[in-house]
Amino acid sequence: MGRIKAIISIFLVQFLLLQFTKSQQGFEESSAARTLKQEPHDSREVHCSRERSRTAWQIIEDYLMPFVEEEGYEISTDCRLHPDNDLFRDQEQHKINLDVNEWRCGYCKKSFRAERFLDQHFDNRHYNLLNVSQSKCLADLCGALHCDFVINSKLHKAKCNPAAVARNRHVCESLANNCFPISQGPSASRLHELFLRQFCDAHTCSRKTTPFPRGGKKRENLLYMATSILILMLLPLFYLLYYLYQRDMKRETQVLRRVSQVGRKAKPS
Ligand SMILES: [Zn+2]
Repeated sequence: MGRIKAIISIFLVQFLLLQFTKSQQGFEESSAARTLKQEPHDSREVHCSRERSRTAWQIIEDYLMPFVEEEGYEISTDCRLHPDNDLFRDQEQHKINLDVNEWRCGYCKKSFRAERFLDQHFDNRHYNLLNVSQSKCLADLCGALHCDFVINSKLHKAKCNPAAVARNRHVCESLANNCFPISQGPSASRLHELFLRQFCDAHTCSRKTTPFPRGGKKRENLLYMATSILILMLLPLFYLLYYLYQRDMKRETQVLRRVSQVGRKAKPS
């Protein structure tokens, strides 16, 4: 009878402990939700995609800026590709990426687990830093700059829309004219030509031409560095294994020698 009582009381204690931890978790969750809700959400909307602006910026950085830098050319603020004409540029430059899972706001130093949370924080807390008075949406140039090609380069089998292609080509050519006016000298002329080949030629329904035929920033460097680091890390491991193998072999031959010596000594008797 006493044993049954003890078992029941153990079960009871375990049940109570479980309930307590559950309620504790619930409390933590609700407090986390509250901190999320505390961030005042601004009802004003920005009609410009941050993600697509970022993609457009990356395309400019990778496939245009290496050539602009090579020419030592200064893009004017009248050009829509100038950093000042990107609504999100200032915020993007205030992103501090400390680790894969740690992003910090450069304005108020708050930390986040992922980039998208930092984006949300920018939208909610630092909305006032966006200059929305002028049309500075880089995402609007996504058609001309082939953002979709970059985002899903493998799914580029959509049906061609001649009207959209013509519109994108027009925007593309006007970018070449505004950003690299031929009248501004040989550097601007060369970049004008490059811009047409690199970005505008591919605005056609013919499948033969793809964007960025002149190439861009060397991304292989990163891969090369990663490979080198991996090799450097694996090398000591290889030597250790080799050393252990050699040691085992030596020990084996010693054992064999000892066995054969014992055998020889044993023979005469
Ligand atoms: Zn902040």
